[in-house]
Amino acid sequence: MMKFDTVKKNLEARGYAVRVFSTGKEAADYLDANLDGKSVGFGGSVTLDALGLYERLGTHNKVMWHWKWEDKNAARREATTADVYLTSVNGLAETGELVNIDGAGNRVAATLFGHEKVYFVIGRNKLAPTYDEAVWRARNIASPQNARRLGKKTPCAVKGDRCYDCKSPERICRGLVTLWGPMMGMEAEVLLIDEDLGM
Ligand code: SF4
Repeated sequence: MMKFDTVKKNLEARGYAVRVFSTGKEAADYLDANLDGKSVGFGGSVTLDALGLYERLGTHNKVMWHWKWEDKNAARREATTADVYLTSVNGLAETGELVNIDGAGNRVAATLFGHEKVYFVIGRNKLAPTYDEAVWRARNIASPQNARRLGKKTPCAVKGDRCYDCKSPERICRGLVTLWGPMMGMEAEVLLIDEDLGM
């Protein structure tokens, strides 16, 4: 798929395994076929939810997701030690950097340590030409949309146009992690999907 050719090459050069899918359904089929009998932690992600992965993988894996469990903190804690972790990103640079912003920190922490393998499930709308533009996207598109989705009392959620670097107590952007490559000792695979998915 031409639009992913450059980013795929650059991700592979950084040490990621990369697969390209035409649809989210195909990516979900792939994960469903490859994960069995594992404990699987989920990061907060509209993409993962849209793909129905919690429900599908849950029929033959132990799945932990604070979006689905009543005890959200227990789910966050258990997910951090899962065999496998699934998440998306807030921005993907064509040069191969992965950018995520987080509030509680469980999601970004899980991309750094604690699993056999982490999968990044990424729709085409997350792709930005450069690292700076991927960070810009994470801050000014993904985060305001997430704040709005969560009904936060922040200027970005009210106006919906950009980040105001707010000092609101409800600020959801508490830390930003850039991955230059897979962390040592943890496999990482990037699934690129030719559909708009997530925020
Ligand atoms: S820092 Fe504040 S204004 Fe900026 S995106 Fe996050 S919550 Fe919104």
